[in-house]
Amino acid sequence: MISFLDIKKINEPYQNAFQEKLKAVMDSGWFILGNEVKQFEDNFANFCGSKYGIGVGNGLDAITLTFLGYIENGNLQKGDEIIVPANTYVASILGILHAGLVPVLVEPNLETYNINPSLIEAKISSKTKGILVVHLYGQLADMDAIIEVGYKHNLLIVEDCAQAHGLTFKGSHARCFSFYPGKNLGALGDGGTVLTNDEKLATTLKKLRNYGSEKKYYNECIGFNSRLDELQAAFLNVKLPHLDSENEKRRTIANRYISEIKNEKIVLPVIDAIENHVFHLFVIRTQNRNELQDYLIQNDIQTLIHYPVPPHQQKALENWNHLHFPITEIIHDEVLSLPISPVMTSDEVTYVINTINAWKS
Ligand SMILES: *Cc1c(COP(=O)(O)O)cnc(C)c1O
Repeated sequence: MISFLDIKKINEPYQNAFQEKLKAVMDSGWFILGNEVKQFEDNFANFCGSKYGIGVGNGLDAITLTFLGYIENGNLQKGDEIIVPANTYVASILGILHAGLVPVLVEPNLETYNINPSLIEAKISSKTKGILVVHLYGQLADMDAIIEVGYKHNLLIVEDCAQAHGLTFKGSHARCFSFYPGKNLGALGDGGTVLTNDEKLATTLKKLRNYGSEKKYYNECIGFNSRLDELQAAFLNVKLPHLDSENEKRRTIANRYISEIKNEKIVLPVIDAIENHVFHLFVIRTQNRNELQDYLIQNDIQTLIHYPVPPHQQKALENWNHLHFPITEIIHDEVLSLPISPVMTSDEVTYVINTINAWKS
């Protein structure tokens, strides 16, 4: 069986280094917000070209706390509207809602799966104060166009980078990351980080993640307990230096899929520049998606669907169930994610390609 993502194998090369880190943290006797978290925040901010890194509990909290931080600092008010792509993973939407803000859905581009910048302006009202950009599947959204419309309307631009570790970023106000084990930079549990150049936001986030307190037992705002775990930070410090080479392996596989999959029933993703994609997922489309998925499983190839139900059709978001987003709905009906990872062998890639090319629906 070719598994969709072999997380055990991805982490195997780091096992000895992880064990040394575990011993070092145990020897230090310091388990919350210690040197490993501090180092990772600095390392990761440097790596991504941001000034400040604030480690938090997970990716959802990175988004929620970023927006709450802007409210705390007076940049946003409860009830303000935030533009977000209609086809994103539900966590992007939840982060906006948990901060007391109002998500406004915008359709993606059917070729790139990222928000269509030319549709943003029509959704901007007097209450619109921000855009949450999502680099879905690992492909950089059209930031030049988004920044242009954002700056024109004085919007905060926040990026959901949970699928985009290793991209070259530009021009936003804050970047939110998840280190969920299946991400391109994955911990051995939950983890997240916010990156920003805004010193005031960084200071507020350091309080919000820690009961509203910078100085122990002195609470300046209504905070949370959402800290990047010291051990997870230690493991991430081991893995970060290898992120670029792991992403390069993903790109090699993606290049082969793009040039060697030849089946008229299948639509391949449109990639404008390979360096602007880290291939968290390799997503194809076909009108007979469920049939293709069954065929592949019969041939020992595991695939997944990202995602089967769009946010506006989720039971949890009942107020939106009457809305229609035709492009988003096509995407959710037709997408299928093929196996891709830094540990997939070239024989496995060849087998996936040959099996897909032999599929007759
Ligand atoms: C994984 C993911 C998140 C949430 O991250 P968690 O660490 O699981 O909370 C948010 N947005 C996107 C696009 C994701 O893929």
